[in-house]
Amino acid sequence: MNKPIVIQGAMQVEVAALVALLDDVVIETGGGWTFWLGQLAGVPVVISRTGMGMSNAAAATAIALERYAPAAVINQGTAGGHDPALLPNDLVLGARVIHLGAFQSPFRDAGAGSDTLAWRPLDLMDQSETANFTMPVPMSFDADPDLLAMAREVEHATGRVVDGVIGSSDVWNNELDRIAHFHARYGTLVEEMEAASVAQVCGQYRVPFLCVRVVSNNIVNGSAHDVATANACQRFVAALTQRYRQPVAALLRSRSPAEEQ
Ligand code: SAH
Repeated sequence: MNKPIVIQGAMQVEVAALVALLDDVVIETGGGWTFWLGQLAGVPVVISRTGMGMSNAAAATAIALERYAPAAVINQGTAGGHDPALLPNDLVLGARVIHLGAFQSPFRDAGAGSDTLAWRPLDLMDQSETANFTMPVPMSFDADPDLLAMAREVEHATGRVVDGVIGSSDVWNNELDRIAHFHARYGTLVEEMEAASVAQVCGQYRVPFLCVRVVSNNIVNGSAHDVATANACQRFVAALTQRYRQPVAALLRSRSPAEEQ
């Protein structure tokens, strides 16, 4: 039995192009989340519209992992640039995704204002249950190395493909100093609102994960938001699933008859 690949997008425009490519579509819902089951040029996939933000993404991921027991989860969609070199339609492969929404602020007295750049990252996976669960760097989740290696081989005609750090939180940052701080201290190339949450849940289930994001806006270099970039990202991920089929076929071929019994 071939396990499906779950491919997620937050908004309808981030999944519509993938859904349009499916054969034998069956639509399922649960708790307000929608899943399109089908074949993408022969590869079994489940397209999942997660909704925006960390909680939506976590819940949609948990439902998908429980229901469909996928071989892998690919989270994809639009993102905002932190690196001034990135332009709309460039793609970022998340070698790592980090959680930019969990911090503890150092004490400041009444009237002393707020300085988010001094906030310390929190470890929400900490099991010690002590008061100090701060860390020097945010919670970080690595991409599955095989998925990342496959993605590096996929052609992308409309922009560059780079890999690096993707930052996630329920915040859309437009403060240039805060963006520069994340970029300088943690190496974020782009930000978005779902990936670290998805990666955290996939980690708990030990399911391979990769995040692929297209730059749809970059306030650092003045690139306005262009949501149509979501289409290029979906095309790239569709091509990636076709590559995924090859290693599975190779694996099946390499199995000895004894193992198949
Ligand atoms: N509802 C708005 C668009 C919201 S975009 C509209 O229709 O115009 C927010 C989504 O895009 C989130 O799911 C997030 O993952 C992604 N995103 C794109 N650019 C982002 C940025 N600069 N910061 C945070 N999230 C961004």
